[in-house]
Amino acid sequence: VWENCLHFIKDNIQPQAFKTWFEPIKSVKLTDKALSIQVPSKFFYEWLEEHYVKLLKVALTRELGENAKLVYVIRMENTYGNKQPFTESIPSSNRANMQPQELDVPVKHKNPELKNPFVIPGIRNIKIESQLNPNYSFDNFLEGDSNRLARSAGMAVANKPGGTSFNPLLIFGGVGLGKTHLAHAIGVEIKDKYPEKTVLYISAEKFTQQYIESVKKNTRNDFIHFYQLIDVLIIDDVQFFSGKSGTQDVFFHVFNHLHQNGKQVILTSDKAPVDMQDIEQRLLSRFKWGLSAELQNPDYETRVSILKNRLYRDGVEMPEEIIDCVARNIKSNVRELEGAIISLIAQSSFNKKEVTLELANQIVEKFVKNTKREVSIDYIQKVISDYFQMDVETLQSKTRKRHIVQARQLAMFFAKKYTKASLASIGSQIGKRDHATVLHACKTVDNLAETDKQFRKYIDDLNQKFSQ
Ligand code: ADP
Ligand code: MG
Repeated sequence: VWENCLHFIKDNIQPQAFKTWFEPIKSVKLTDKALSIQVPSKFFYEWLEEHYVKLLKVALTRELGENAKLVYVIRMENTYGNKQPFTESIPSSNRANMQPQELDVPVKHKNPELKNPFVIPGIRNIKIESQLNPNYSFDNFLEGDSNRLARSAGMAVANKPGGTSFNPLLIFGGVGLGKTHLAHAIGVEIKDKYPEKTVLYISAEKFTQQYIESVKKNTRNDFIHFYQLIDVLIIDDVQFFSGKSGTQDVFFHVFNHLHQNGKQVILTSDKAPVDMQDIEQRLLSRFKWGLSAELQNPDYETRVSILKNRLYRDGVEMPEEIIDCVARNIKSNVRELEGAIISLIAQSSFNKKEVTLELANQIVEKFVKNTKREVSIDYIQKVISDYFQMDVETLQSKTRKRHIVQARQLAMFFAKKYTKASLASIGSQIGKRDHATVLHACKTVDNLAETDKQFRKYIDDLNQKFSQ
């Protein structure tokens, strides 16, 4: 009977939907006029009820006549889960080799409307709170050279979620450069344009926690199904997945499902994909399917416009020269820029002092001091060349002389250690090498540090210089 129903259903829906929602179903019992079917999770059942109840009714009525009944059986949760290796597709029926009477539990109907599955329930949207912050919009994400690509890619995605080649869209860049803001802005814009779409913003950390929780409670499948229902999934700070293979695995499956179904995925990370460590290759290769767009340090003009916008929104006026002073001195990131201006406003209103250039200078100075002065790659090259008594050009040159190669490798090693620059950017600044060369240099230094006493001393000496 079920086989026949399936044939009928298959002819009436999209192949992908059939594969997702009907192939995993097993028929378990047929009594008189009631067919029992087994579904993998409660979520699954709710989804069927919401989207396919009419179709199911028609299919079953054709087979069993007007009084046909359908009974759902949800596979008991502790019968699947972590022991089972996870396959690429959504759980399929052949994984359920179990004795129904032992393992199956009837659906507990929370909603009395659902007791008789053929009472077609009103549209029950599964409400998923999007977790978006409406204050992070495109309007107040100021455009500049440093963010133009990422911002316009974000706009394109917001206009046509899932319908561009930017899928996934990966936004990467250092702290405080606007990744979280932009990620929310895309979500907010999508919600605005397509209110019916299910959008979810979640940090990679929270996603990981939820996943671990689901494994503990044996609800891993529900976890996966939940995420597969989303139209636009935004995961912030995916570098957090590094080294967490279980989470990466589950994300991989969720990602594939969403991608196959034309759903949009937006990710942010503090590193470019090539620089991500302990992330499985198959995930990294998925990241490359779409677009990786970098947020760079804002240039002076962008800093000025961000400051002006901020002041405007707060209804505060401030002389140009003060804005200029803040913008000129605080270069590291937007968060600090905002921090400085906020503290300037606070100081002036608290002490009822006018904001003078002097006060601005004081505050800026404090900010610059507090943010640990980052050692720059230029500085590292200078110190190392001095230490080995060569000049920077020699250090950067193409020569294969051993002591020069070592000095160069040390420079790369320390650049990786003391700066936030990517491997690619370190390579390009130290004699135009590529990221693989830098990675190799870092490994070589690590090895030599363990095996070569003299080399160990170089590292210790240099460490002292840089950590001062
Ligand atoms: P990240 O997630 O990259 O660490 P955030 O998104 O938290 O950075 O941004 C830090 C702060 O800077 C936020 O208050 C954000 O609103 C602001 N910001 C970043 N970029 C911009 C921009 N282009 N225009 C306006 N504000 C920005
Ligand atoms: Mg962030």
